[in-house]
Amino acid sequence: MSELQNKNSWYDADKAHHIHPFMDPKYFDKNHVRVITRGEGVYIWDAEGNKILDGMAGLWCVNVGYGRQELIDAANEQMKNLAYYNSFFQSSTPTQIELAEKLATITPQGIDHFFYANSGSEANDTVIRMARHYWSIQGKPTKRIFIGRHLGYHGSTLAATSLGGMKGMHDMGGSLLPEFEHIMQPHWYTLGAGLTPEEFGLKAAKALEDKILELGADNVAAFIGEPIQGAGGVIDPPSTYWPEIQRICKKYNILLVADEVICGFGRTGNWFGSDTYNIKPDMMPMAKGLSSGYIPIAAVGFSKEVYSVLAEGGHIAHGYTYSGHPVACAVALANINLMERDGIVEMVRDDTGPYFRKSLQQLADTHPIVGELRGAGLVAGLQLVKDKENKTIFTSEEGAGLICREHCIQHNLIMRMVDQAMVASPPLTITRDEIDEFTEKAKIGLDLTAQHFGLL
Ligand SMILES: *Cc1c(COP(=O)(O)O)cnc(C)c1O
Repeated sequence: MSELQNKNSWYDADKAHHIHPFMDPKYFDKNHVRVITRGEGVYIWDAEGNKILDGMAGLWCVNVGYGRQELIDAANEQMKNLAYYNSFFQSSTPTQIELAEKLATITPQGIDHFFYANSGSEANDTVIRMARHYWSIQGKPTKRIFIGRHLGYHGSTLAATSLGGMKGMHDMGGSLLPEFEHIMQPHWYTLGAGLTPEEFGLKAAKALEDKILELGADNVAAFIGEPIQGAGGVIDPPSTYWPEIQRICKKYNILLVADEVICGFGRTGNWFGSDTYNIKPDMMPMAKGLSSGYIPIAAVGFSKEVYSVLAEGGHIAHGYTYSGHPVACAVALANINLMERDGIVEMVRDDTGPYFRKSLQQLADTHPIVGELRGAGLVAGLQLVKDKENKTIFTSEEGAGLICREHCIQHNLIMRMVDQAMVASPPLTITRDEIDEFTEKAKIGLDLTAQHFGLL
C-alpha cells in the first residue's frame, strides 16, 4: 500500500489508539493528526506529500539535521557489535567511556564527570537526587529545596514538572511536589517597565536572594535555570542577570544548575549556553542536541568539586537500566564528532547565527505585530503584539499565536508558539539560503496574522 493510501488509516488509527503529549484530544473531533514520514537536512515530509521546513529541529533537538549517515552507521555498527550492556555494578562499555571523555573536553571548564540518563526529565531527576545527597554527605540534610523560575521548563516527570515553572503542568493532577519554589523569569520586555534591561537583570536576580532569605539558606539545595529559557518562550536574560545569580549562589552556598537541554550543543553559537553567558555551573543536565535527537540519551555533568563530595559519600543508589545505553552513546559520539569535523558550532557563532538574527531583527523592527526578537545564535522568539508602541501582547483568547502557527504550517514552515510568541530553533546546519526561505515564510505567516486582526 502506498503512503498516500495509508494515510487515512493512520489518521483513524491515531485517533482510535494514540494519546499525544501536550494536546487536547478534542482537537481530533474535527481534525486529523499530521503524520511525518521522512526527513532530510532541514526538511521533513508529511503523509500528504508536503515538503516542510522544520524551523524547530523536531523539538529543539535535531541539531545536525535529518538523515546524517555518520549517525546511522554508528548505531548500526554498535547494534551489530553489542546491542546492549549496562553500566551498573562495575561494568562499562567502550562508547560510554569514550563519550564521557569527549564530554569532558567540550563542556565548560571544571565539569568533568558525567552520569547518563535517557531524557532531559530523567537528567533533572538525577540532579535533584544528587544535589540533596551532596548536602546530606556534608552533614547538611536540611538543604533540600530547589528554586526554579516561572516559565522554566525542566521536563515532564513528577520531579521535573515541579522543578519547572509551568503553572498548567502543576495544575494537572496537583503535580507540584513540596520543596520546590519559583521566582520571576528575567524577561525585561514584559516585566521590566521603567527599568533599563541592566537594572531589570539585577532586580530579577535579586528575587533569588529574597527567596533564599525567606526560606533560609540552610534549607535550599540549589538554583536551576536554563541559560536561555526555551519552552517558556525563548527568554534571554539581560547581561547583568547571570553574574548576579552566580554571586548570590556563592554567597549563600547554594548549588547552581544550568539546564543545558536546549542551549547545549551549539544552539547559542557556543558549545553550551554556559559558555555564552559565562556561567560556571556545579551541575549541568543535557539531552536533546547531545544525539541530535537521533536516539534518546541525556547526561548530567558534575564539577570536580561536587563529584569529589559524591565520591566521598559511598554507594550511589541511583541509575536507569539504559544509563549510558551503548547504542545511544555511539550515536552521541558520532554526533559530536560530526559537529567538530564540520565546524558547526563555529558556523553558528560566526556566520549563520548572526545572519539569522539580522534577518529576524529586520522583521521584528518593521513588522506591525512583532514586539521584540529574543534569543541568541539559532534560537529565536518573536513576541506577537497588537500594539507595538505600548507593548500590548495579544491575549490567549485572541489566539494570534495559534493563528500564526497555522498560517506558517499552511506555507510549509514549522514554528512553535508559546504564550503569543513565535519560537524557532532550526537545525544548526541550516544554510543562508534556507534562512532566507525561513524568513520569507515566517513573514507570510505574520502578514496573514496581522491582516486577520486588521493590523496590516
Ligand atoms: C526538553 C527539556 C527538558 C526535558 O527533556 P525530555 O527529554 O523531554 O525529558 C528539560 N529541560 C529543558 C530545558 C528542556 O528544554
